[in-house]
Amino acid sequence: MTSDTPFSYRTRRAALESMAADPVDLLILGGGITGAGIARDAALRGFRTALVEKGDFGGGTSSQSSRLIHGGIRYLEQYDFRLVLEASRERRVLLEIAPHLVRPLPFLFPVYRGGRVPAWKVRAGMWLYDLLAAFHNVRIHHWLGRRAALKLESGLREKDLQGAALYYDAQTDDARLVLATMRSAARAGALVANYAAATSLLKPDGRVRGATVRDLLSGRPYTVRALVVVNAGGPWADQLRGLDDPHAEPLLRPTEGAHVVVPRQRLGHTYAVTFTSPIDGRVMFILPWGDSSYVGTTDTDTGVSPDDVRATGSDVVYLLRSANAVFPQARLSPADVIATWAGLRPLLHPDRAVAPSESSREHRIVESASGLLTIAGGKLTTYRVMARDMVDRVAARLHALDGRPRAGRPRTDRLPLPGGETADLEVLVKGAATRVPETTARHLVGRYGSEAAAVLNLVDRERALGDPIVAGRPEIWAEVKHAVEREMVVRLADVLVRRLRLFSSARDQAVPATSAVADRLAQALGWDADRRAAEVADYLKLVERSRAFAREVARPSRPR
Ligand SMILES: Cc1cc2nc3c(=O)[nH]c(=O)nc-3n(C[C@H](O)[C@H](O)[C@H](O)COP(=O)(O)OP(=O)(O)OC[C@H]3O[C@@H](n4cnc5c(N)ncnc54)[C@H](O)[C@@H]3O)c2cc1C
Repeated sequence: MTSDTPFSYRTRRAALESMAADPVDLLILGGGITGAGIARDAALRGFRTALVEKGDFGGGTSSQSSRLIHGGIRYLEQYDFRLVLEASRERRVLLEIAPHLVRPLPFLFPVYRGGRVPAWKVRAGMWLYDLLAAFHNVRIHHWLGRRAALKLESGLREKDLQGAALYYDAQTDDARLVLATMRSAARAGALVANYAAATSLLKPDGRVRGATVRDLLSGRPYTVRALVVVNAGGPWADQLRGLDDPHAEPLLRPTEGAHVVVPRQRLGHTYAVTFTSPIDGRVMFILPWGDSSYVGTTDTDTGVSPDDVRATGSDVVYLLRSANAVFPQARLSPADVIATWAGLRPLLHPDRAVAPSESSREHRIVESASGLLTIAGGKLTTYRVMARDMVDRVAARLHALDGRPRAGRPRTDRLPLPGGETADLEVLVKGAATRVPETTARHLVGRYGSEAAAVLNLVDRERALGDPIVAGRPEIWAEVKHAVEREMVVRLADVLVRRLRLFSSARDQAVPATSAVADRLAQALGWDADRRAAEVADYLKLVERSRAFAREVARPSRPR
């Protein structure tokens, strides 16, 4: 698949028709990063693969993360060295196969006298972190004295500052990482559809042999027969297991994590900052994202449904108070919050009672009596390994079923994700800057990598598509057209929340631009006036939900 290969509402319909017409080897339920990774690995092994996702690709937890591709510095405290080793290796792989989506990010970890983690421990931890990455992290860490730390990040609280570690991890656009993985799967032959929910499992003889899938846009039901069915439902995995066996024991103990977005200039920081919250000593992050910054995350036990999770007033107060303790001049208040997001970590139920943040991030594959394979746990960073483990299981099952030769493991660690074919992004920026202003060129290459050329071609054909969607911001109208034709956009929120990310980074969550974007989509996707109005109303509901905390700030619902 090149950037010109369609991946659109048309491909979606064709995929649903095709998966219903002929049985597939593998049907995957859930199109987050785990399902996308499994679809890619399975299709590359030559299995006839189908995937259905009840919302947008990555619309679940996989677009609500801290957006870090990281070894997981905080897991060192739990002596989870195996996980850090694996995640560090995966960080290196993803930096190579998706250089436009996974970028090195320098972090400062300031250490304060009297803080929960003493300086010696941070320093020892940093050596261990580099060691577990076999000294192949972006760069090895450095310890900075107090003066040097303040020189790099002058807004840090000075009182009791002893010094800071300067170390490296990577940041990604989580939703776009899912999309790129999904497109790579489709390129290898996988049939994938968003807004298609599994509503029941086919069990004609007691074994799981497919699913009934409802197209949530047309309302049409499809019957998809499959030799193997995989549940990649993330925090919904137990619900999906319930379709197989209503009495199935829960596998998960989900914990909730929230983030707040604030204008970057209020914190005035240059580096990503790792710190321990003075409220409860938990490790947290302040992360840059263009001209905004996000602070995260919380980690709380919850009984809330994954469909209803949102940042509460007490989440926001906790995050802002923690950030203010490290950047006292910022004096962030709830009025500064641009947006919030929250998700549930699909963590495995621990064998013993532990605090939420100590729950293991390991993954596990479980097979039910009727043969449903469920994958639970894991992280965005380690999705490729999770996918490989699952497809090994699927391959063994297919081999046992029909004796087909076992296909070798595909080199998913070498095959670039779409747009990641060129490692030298600066060369791409230079080329693009001959066609559009340099800031636009940098933005497009940062988001689309080598596929920026496809967006630029649209601008060449129609100059007005080079205009910004929101004045003063880098996103241009050509990206909306590109998203419809090449990124399977079927709803307004797909564009604003996950393809362009205006929801979580534009000052007013792009509300003033909503109508104009809806007009373009209505034209491209053939919406009537009612559908257009419903799409706008649904987007405004999402905005309202991300701001619902404001009503609770005066009386936090969950005191900490
Ligand atoms: C706050 C927070 C911060 C995090 N930060 C990081 C981080 O910085 N780095 C990192 O590596 N990891 C991080 N993680 C973990 C990581 O985000 C998750 O492990 C990962 O995204 C889970 O992906 P998934 O595909 O398993 O689940 P999901 O992304 O939730 O995907 C499951 C999908 O199944 C779909 N589904 C459910 N029911 C059905 C049905 N009936 N039919 C069809 N589809 C269905 C859902 O709509 C959903 O899209 C974080 C998690 C949270 C919550």
